[in-house]
Amino acid sequence: MEKTLIILKPDALQRTLVGEIIQRLERKGLKLIGMKMSRLDDAVLRAHYAHIVDKPFYKDIETFMQSAPVVILAVEGFECVDAVRLIVGPTNPRLADAGTIRGDLAIGNGRNLIHASDSKENGEIEVSRFFAKDELYSYERTDTPDVYSPAERK
Ligand code: ADP
Repeated sequence: MEKTLIILKPDALQRTLVGEIIQRLERKGLKLIGMKMSRLDDAVLRAHYAHIVDKPFYKDIETFMQSAPVVILAVEGFECVDAVRLIVGPTNPRLADAGTIRGDLAIGNGRNLIHASDSKENGEIEVSRFFAKDELYSYERTDTPDVYSPAERK
């Protein structure tokens, strides 16, 4: 089953939106397979944000992402990477549709509450960057037949 990595950023903790965001993901039908709190060090942050490290706003993002712990989730679901990106909304919350996490709950570009992997390949890479194998859990959700048709349960 496809995996995606979610990071609830320091603004989610400071604004007490962790429960609300996790609830939205759970209600979608996504399966939580890993969850922890962490303070991100320079090295992991630079690896995670390698594609924006040269941008003028990176220093702010680095300081901000280290300003409080983050909550890191690994979730699993059929074609979940794209599905989660739709729930999250685009990077700039001011352009995000109502109904999305960023559209409903955020307004600042660098304070958009949540990271979600942007491709199936990055989902795999990012889950392994943030979780050791023994921190990921394999189990059967009892509501699976009510969440997926048989062809989607693989
Ligand atoms: P996303 O998180 O939507 O995948 P990116 O990977 O492009 O977006 O960027 C990583 C993070 O960098 C964004 O979530 C956002 O917090 C920050 N960021 C991106 N673009 C800007 C910008 N123009 N100004 C400020 N912060 C930005």
